[in-house]
Parts: sequence; structure tokens; C-alpha cells
Amino acid sequence: MQCPERVDNWIDGAPRPAAGGGTLPVVEPATGRVISRLAASGAGDVDAAQAAAARAFPAWSAIGAPARAERLERLAQLVERDLERLAGLESADSGKPLALARSVDIPRAAANLRFFADAVRAWRPDEDLRAPHAVSRVIRRPSGVAGCISPWNLPLYLFTWKVAPALAAGCTVVGKPSEETPLTAAAFAELSAEAGFPPGVLNVVQGRGAECGAAIVAHPGIPTISFTGGTETGARIMSVAGPMFKSVALELGGKNPTIVLDDCDLDAAVVGAVRAAFQNQGQICLCGSRVLVARDLYPRFRDAFVERALALRIGDPLDPATEQGSLVSEAHRTKVSAAVERARAEGGRVLCGGRAPDPASLPERVRGGAYYLPTVIEGLPMACATNQEEIFGPVATIQPFDGDEDAVRLANESAFGLAASVWTGDHARGMRVAERLESGIVWINAWLLRDLRVPFGGMKRSGLGREGGDEALRFFTEPKSITWPA
Ligand code: NAD
Repeated sequence: MQCPERVDNWIDGAPRPAAGGGTLPVVEPATGRVISRLAASGAGDVDAAQAAAARAFPAWSAIGAPARAERLERLAQLVERDLERLAGLESADSGKPLALARSVDIPRAAANLRFFADAVRAWRPDEDLRAPHAVSRVIRRPSGVAGCISPWNLPLYLFTWKVAPALAAGCTVVGKPSEETPLTAAAFAELSAEAGFPPGVLNVVQGRGAECGAAIVAHPGIPTISFTGGTETGARIMSVAGPMFKSVALELGGKNPTIVLDDCDLDAAVVGAVRAAFQNQGQICLCGSRVLVARDLYPRFRDAFVERALALRIGDPLDPATEQGSLVSEAHRTKVSAAVERARAEGGRVLCGGRAPDPASLPERVRGGAYYLPTVIEGLPMACATNQEEIFGPVATIQPFDGDEDAVRLANESAFGLAASVWTGDHARGMRVAERLESGIVWINAWLLRDLRVPFGGMKRSGLGREGGDEALRFFTEPKSITWPA
């Protein structure tokens, strides 16, 4: 894979190194090699990006939804044209299997762009309301410069999930991808120029969260912040943005239950639960990391679940047969490994995994990679740290429950409330369980099934606000009501 030697910011339609000249290494986690260097930006670079975005805002917000949609559509086509290159960059940067980046990450990034192009064409933001005594018009206008901050686990996919609705609604953007995975957002910014986005409409600043991310949040000229990342970072962002009365949407962590009812199709539930636990090495906020199984089914399900986890092919992300790649970094592997040691100390029985693979079992190219085996742990109470704290790696706990009531109780025994999946042969029963779960997203006999129109986001410590569909377009606009006597 040909990586750029340097990853610069993209400000006012052109690449720019960090004003201070600093850089950070970009590491390919599957090999441990430094593959590029990243601009280590700070407040000065954010100022420049915000100024460019503020200059571009009047024309971009006035150009009209069809013209904005047309550019988003063109950008979607360019992402599809460059699918191989972008998938290669994503895989090298994050350690995920190339096949996954090719089939999920990049196509979904293009789908996000196309979806919001169509959505804004159809959107009627203004509304007339009549009462016997008054007539009102409610209008919504883009809210200005939007700050879009995204994490490393689905880099381009989540970056576009914010940037596309912001641009569609008429905002201009100062975006920041994670410093762990900067490559595809940088390539995307260049493509935006080819797609005809005027300079300043989309700006990307690169660098550490505590410096350049924090500068976006604190900037008085960026009134809207859309953030996806960890819950603690979300709390820090809120503490800065709250007193500034910014509009903030937070998509944060999860500790999601997979609930297997006694009438489910066992094979389908095992396949679904393994995918939910381990796709992208368990590094998806929606991953099902607490598997709850009806007691009658428990021994059979557990054995089949472990067998399938053991069968996942771990290897070079470039090998099309690889199902499990590397974790995102050595530092993250250390955290995951510490979490498994804590689970052992809490009395958990490790049924499979529980360690890094023997390097000799890996292809030579990736022996220095940040790999960790898919891990299943049983015997832990719901109240323990392993079941309460997000691990964000290939680690799932499994435990039995007694009846639907108990399943709902255990599922809701969490400070998080992002997603859940319910596996059952009886749709009405699945609906009854789903309605009682404290989760923003519930799937029945599915996982990660997307309809981009539905609200996406979590309850409790999983976040604030919703993305997806018209909710996202509304988020990037300010409503105003104008009222006169009837
Ligand atoms: P993170 O919170 O460390 O970083 C996310 C982004 O925020 C990065 O771009 C980072 O540079 C930036 N950042 C860090 N500190 C900042 C600060 N003080 N101010 C502003 N920006 C700052 O998260 P991560 O480790 O990159 O991602 C993993 C986390 O993201 C997990 O908790 C996962 O559950 C969550 N996540 C949530 C969703 C969702 O939709 N709910 C989706 C994906 C990931």
C-alpha cells in the first residue's frame, strides 16, 4: 500500500502542515512500522481552519440544497472510484482486515454521502403552523461552522456520518479524525476539492485530541460540535462546550447486551452473536460484549459460541481470508490485556483466548503486530468491572438468565445504553423485550443492520442527541419561529 509520506491539514482548499511544524508518527499496527507522519496541529491551525470555514459559510449556506447534494453525490462517486486505495489506507492505518474495509467501511462512507444528498433534496425544513389566533412559520437555517470529531475504529465511515449531514444542511466544517487513523480523512479532504466543494467548506485538522480536538471544542466561532468517541472524552467536551451554550451531539461508549431467548434459531444466534462480539476485533461501539443466554440453552449455546470464536481466522489484514486483524495500537492491546487480567482477578473463567497469539502462529510480515485472540469469559456477576466498563476489544462475557424478566434486568444493569440485540423465534416477544431495554438501538435477529433514516445514538452514558436521517440535518440547523395574528 502506497501511503503518503506526510499527512497535512486541509485548510481553505489546500494542504498545510501544522503551523508549529510538529509531526507525529503514523503506525501500521499490524506490523508496528511507522508508515507516515502526521501534522501535530494546535490552536493556531484550528483558528486558520475556522476562519476559512467562516469565510466560506455565507456562499455555501446560500447555494441551495440541490447544489450541495450534487457535490455530495459527486464525492460519493469519487470515494467509490478510489475504493481500493481508501480501503488499503484504512486497513494499514487501523489493522482491520482489508476485506472488511473494502466491503463495509468504504462502501458505507460512500453510502453516507449519497444518503444525505438524497435526504437534503427531500427535506422540507420550513413549516407553517396555523392556530385560530396565530399563524407561524418555523424556519431552519444552517448553524454556521460545525466541529466534527471522530474516533479511530471506523475512521472514514464515522467521519462521513457527521460531515455529510453538516455539509448537506449548509454548514461548513472543521473536522478532526483520530490521530491513530488520519489517512482516509486526509485523502477524503483532497477528493472534496475534486468533487467541487469550494475552498473552506470542508477543512480537516490533524493532531492530538487534547490539543487540536480541544481547540475545536473551545473555539467561540464553532457553535456546533458533533463528537463520537469515549465517554470520558465526551464528559470533558461537555464541560467546555456547556458553559459556551454550544449545540453538542455525543456518540459515546457502549457495553451492549446480546440477548439469546430460549426459542431462537440457535445457529443463527451463534453466528450473529460472534459477529457482534468480534467484528473489527470487537472495536465497534455497537459490539455485543455481554452475551446473555436463556439457561436451558446455555451449555449448548456457550460451547457453539466458543467453538466459532476459536475458528475465526487471525492473520495479515491483507490476506482476503483474514477475519481478525490487529488491534488499533500496541497501547490499546496493553489496555485490553489488562482488562482480561482484571476479569481473571474478579473470578472470571477464560473459555478461549485471554492472551495475544503466539507470534510464530502469525504470518511473518505481521509478527510485530498488536494482535489479541478472541476471548470469551464466563462466571462473572453483572456488577463487576469487567461487565460494567467498556473494553473495546475482542472480549465478551457470557452468562445465563432465567426468563425474559431476568434478561431485561441484567441487560439494563449498565451505566451505558447504546445498543442491544435480541435473538428469538417470536417477533412479538422480541418486541416486548426490545421496548423495555434501556438502549437507543435494538436489533431483533440482526446486528448492525442499517437503515440510515432511523435515529442513531445512545441513552445514559452512551451519549446525547441522535445522528441519522432528519435528526442529523436538524442538528446542524437552528430553528426560528416567526408568528403573526391570524
Ligand atoms: P477518544 O474519545 O479517545 O477520541 C475520539 C476523538 O476525540 C479523537 O479524534 C480524539 O483525538 C479526540 N479527542 C480526544 N480528547 C479530546 C478532547 N479533550 N477534546 C476534543 N477532542 C478530543 O475515543 P477513541 O479511543 O478514538 O474511540 C473509541 C471510543 O469511541 C470508544 O469508547 C467507543 O465506544 C466510542 N465510539 C462510539 C461510537 C458511537 O456511535 N456511539 C462509535 C464509535 C466509537
